[in-house]
Amino acid sequence: MFTLEARKMGYRVHTFSPDRDTPTGHVADVETSASYDDLDRVREFARSVDVVTFEFENVPSKTVEAAAEFVDVHPKGEILHTTQNRLREKTFLSDNGFPVTPFRHIKSIDDLYRAADALGYPSVLKTAGFGYDGKGQAKIRAHSDLDEAFAAMNGNDSVLEAFVAFAKEVSVVCARDQDGNLAHYGVIENEHANHILDVSFAPAMVSETVYRDAVEITRNVADAFGYVGTMCVEFFLTTDDKLLVNEIAPRPHNSGHLTFGPCVASQFEQQVRAVCGLPLGSTEFYRSAAMANLLGEVWANGEPKWSAALADPNVKLHLYGKADPKPGRKMGHLTGTGVTAEEAASAVRAARERLKTSNK
Ligand code: AMP
Repeated sequence: MFTLEARKMGYRVHTFSPDRDTPTGHVADVETSASYDDLDRVREFARSVDVVTFEFENVPSKTVEAAAEFVDVHPKGEILHTTQNRLREKTFLSDNGFPVTPFRHIKSIDDLYRAADALGYPSVLKTAGFGYDGKGQAKIRAHSDLDEAFAAMNGNDSVLEAFVAFAKEVSVVCARDQDGNLAHYGVIENEHANHILDVSFAPAMVSETVYRDAVEITRNVADAFGYVGTMCVEFFLTTDDKLLVNEIAPRPHNSGHLTFGPCVASQFEQQVRAVCGLPLGSTEFYRSAAMANLLGEVWANGEPKWSAALADPNVKLHLYGKADPKPGRKMGHLTGTGVTAEEAASAVRAARERLKTSNK
């Protein structure tokens, strides 16, 4: 999606990934398939481009450092290093005074026993590195769950978090340019299913105070990082209307896919503009917007009924060109607009249902 926006603006894109035949590779000018650890190939790649950015935060630090020897990297490698590890990310957030759910670093089963006593039940144990969409997570309901949850971390460092009985989950997608100007898309409301984002809509149904605080926290996080590019802050909104930062995505985010269409500049165009040293575009919505993810399950009964989904002329289809529709794998999404966010959300939900049920 970044590459599509970049190509529209006349940029040439060279993508580097350990995989072959990637969605980005389909639309990029050049695709290098090499391991992130192959630093000679990384340097060769960096010498061939004017600027480097990411759509995936788990790129190893050494890879980023090797690229940065030759070319500007946005956002900076240190930001990636901080945000790709939950412990470093949560420590950064709490050290800088941002609100987070209480957490503890877990290295041993004794750490876990002590931390569970301190944080109470339920709580959530998460691997410190390489976790997203609920991967590497175990909910702990009682003391008797501790041993099994610890074993599931396979000896990796982990973080125990107090469980948040949230009223809803929201996010703020923003972009910060090279002069420190910030543009944001307001507050987006997110519904998850099985720990994976299911439906997002904007504007979120939150109070003015929550809106202001969420945008302010996002701005302060971006400023604290000296961020350049598109970034998302994901929040829990508690039942007493308090915001807690769940995590930071140092890249365009799934909840920001609804910016395609109703805004002058989508979150991906902002990423292009920011990393290429251009001013940011308008983030104003001309209509309320929504997005429904299409996971591999949608293919369970064969090819989905695309024409049925698109029977609503306000709905747009985005498919990423991934070959293998495995359950839980994000294959694409539907976006839609409406007079209200509720109307837009109903439109994309209904379109997704039609994909599965229509025989047309
Ligand atoms: P994560 O990969 O950490 O973003 O977690 C994925 C989803 O799991 C979140 O969007 C929440 O729906 C849920 N979740 C994660 N951590 C917690 C928590 N501490 N309390 C309640 N729900 C959580």
